[in-house]
Amino acid sequence: MTHPKNNGAASRGVTVLGAGIVGLSIALKLHLDGFKVTVVEKGEPMHGTSYGNAGYLSEANIFPPASPDMLRQLPKFMLSKEGPLVIKPDYATKMIPWAVKAVAALKPASYQNILTGLASMTTLAYESFDELLTAANAQQLLTREGGLVAFRTLAGLEAKCRSLRTWNSFGLAAERISAELITEMEPELSKDMVGGIFFKNSGRCSSPRGLGELYVKRLREAGVEFFTDEVRGIENVDSGVRIHTASGSFVTDRVVLTMGFQTGALLQRLDIKVPLVSERGYHLMLPSSDVRLKRPIVFGEPHFAATPMDEGLRLAGTAEFARADSQPNMDRAWMLLKLAKRYLPNVNEADATPWMGVRPSLPDGLPAIGLMRNAPRIAYAFGHAHNGLTLSAITARCVSALMQGKEAPVDLEPYRLERFLHHEHATV
Ligand SMILES: Cc1cc2nc3c(=O)[nH]c(=O)nc-3n(C[C@H](O)[C@H](O)[C@H](O)COP(=O)(O)OP(=O)(O)OC[C@H]3O[C@@H](n4cnc5c(N)ncnc54)[C@H](O)[C@@H]3O)c2cc1C
Repeated sequence: MTHPKNNGAASRGVTVLGAGIVGLSIALKLHLDGFKVTVVEKGEPMHGTSYGNAGYLSEANIFPPASPDMLRQLPKFMLSKEGPLVIKPDYATKMIPWAVKAVAALKPASYQNILTGLASMTTLAYESFDELLTAANAQQLLTREGGLVAFRTLAGLEAKCRSLRTWNSFGLAAERISAELITEMEPELSKDMVGGIFFKNSGRCSSPRGLGELYVKRLREAGVEFFTDEVRGIENVDSGVRIHTASGSFVTDRVVLTMGFQTGALLQRLDIKVPLVSERGYHLMLPSSDVRLKRPIVFGEPHFAATPMDEGLRLAGTAEFARADSQPNMDRAWMLLKLAKRYLPNVNEADATPWMGVRPSLPDGLPAIGLMRNAPRIAYAFGHAHNGLTLSAITARCVSALMQGKEAPVDLEPYRLERFLHHEHATV
């Protein structure tokens, strides 16, 4: 890599580390707000987790990952090959600190804080895209025709409907709909649906990768430099932040850590231990599905999504807690097809392709967004788990506000990294 233009002296600007949807949104927002932005990415932009998500801009995900219901069903899930959740035995010990904190997040006071935190971002999520989409000429990729959860069993529907009041109390539109209405809205669904939940303000991105690529195009056209290099470490120095990469080092005025799951390893080198785990998910892309859906549909019982995209129908979801670098189990992607056929009987699997991505998951379900308390030149935004696309634009607004010393559009206190740290870290 040719280093950003300095020979040890700090440049006035911001270097964004990692070009997934979170990093690119932040890079674009910072650029629009007048920062001189540089991006460092070890591979190709948008080829990490952001490449293959379900494209669902969901207003439903405001709950922490563990729930009493989920804990009750855990043994059943663990024994089932087709269950929505798997923990690989060699990852179980890594999961213990995460699980302890995930259960602690269910204490009433924490639980309420998490709901309030996630809901405050979620309610601003969709409108926050406007500025980025306009700048990148990407408006055509986002639509807001709502999202559905469809159920085949009354027990599943009734259980989910217990959350209606919570969603509505935060101003998130969610309503129970009948079997007749769900068939009218999505005629391709099997006729044995018993009903569902409709989130009328949820949205969809018809090409998650395409969206990030338009951000890259806009940034490159504006002269923002992209460097292909692997970040190995960062160090707070008098003149700024020194970034150590596989091919050398350079000093930047300020830095934003947006390397998704890999951000945990970088922080670990600074002796900052964050309970970030790898929650792998799978998709199966069906380019000739023969099924036309109007909006994302989550299949209630197995809990994964089918989203109509520019390239076809994408089935995506499941949670597999496993080492990020271990071999993907593509049977889990094919399992989505088998389960989807119960909801979409006419789905055609011709030319289907499987994919696996690593969600960066924190135990309370809130991403980590903020400035390092003892090193405010270092900003971070990672751990978006199931919500990285949905919350990408509002995250970018928050990070830019922090870096300008302005008030963020939402209260970021619940998002601070320090919620996991028991000691003041001065080692950066
Ligand atoms: C199956 C599945 C379905 C999903 N569905 C949805 C959905 O419908 N809606 C939604 O909102 N979210 C969804 N998500 C979650 C969403 O995709 C993630 O939260 C989001 O992609 C995280 O983005 P990121 O930018 O933080 O990470 P990434 O996309 O992983 O980007 C991180 C980047 O950092 C780079 N990097 C890592 N280490 C280094 C290093 N040392 N040096 C330089 N660069 C580095 C990587 O190469 C990568 O490009 C889904 C996830 C999965 C797996």
